[in-house]
Amino acid sequence: MAQNGLLQSDELYKYILETNVYPQEPEPLKEIRALTASHQLFFMGTSPDAGQMIEMLLKLTGAKKTLELGVYTGYSLLLTALTIPEDGKPENKGGFDYVYVDADKINYLNYHEKVVKLLKVNGIIVYDNTLWYGSVAKSEDLVPEVLKQGRTSVLQFNKALATDPRVKISMAPLGDGITICRRVY
Ligand code: CA
Repeated sequence: MAQNGLLQSDELYKYILETNVYPQEPEPLKEIRALTASHQLFFMGTSPDAGQMIEMLLKLTGAKKTLELGVYTGYSLLLTALTIPEDGKPENKGGFDYVYVDADKINYLNYHEKVVKLLKVNGIIVYDNTLWYGSVAKSEDLVPEVLKQGRTSVLQFNKALATDPRVKISMAPLGDGITICRRVY
């Protein structure tokens, strides 16, 4: 379902991965991806194209204090550990530069309320799966039963985020959609 990301063309997504993403993917991440590809819930992990964007953000912001909510295969956790400087480390007190959220969608808004307060001004939050397998733009009767509850939560979340004055956002249609938030005050 989501192994092709949001692009409806398998060929195009394959092209992007093979031409742009895999050549730069660190070796340990390739191994995690290979291990989780055979798992039946493989599509829940962070997609490598989204991972590439996250690596870029971590480097550009010089993030040191990082937090992850919802660790599925550890792909993004390992990515962060490989990317942030050696004196930076994942922590769990306040003042974060970067927070990645890929937990239960029904609680995304609750996490957001807590995480915004833990974030430094100009800190970044990345939310995964914010296009929910493309279902956000489909009419409900066309959405498979298994996606319905998550879809309702994600729709509500996306709407709330776009009007939250504390953050500026960028919805990046990578993987299953990631929303990048920067705390403005
Ligand atoms: Ca995910």
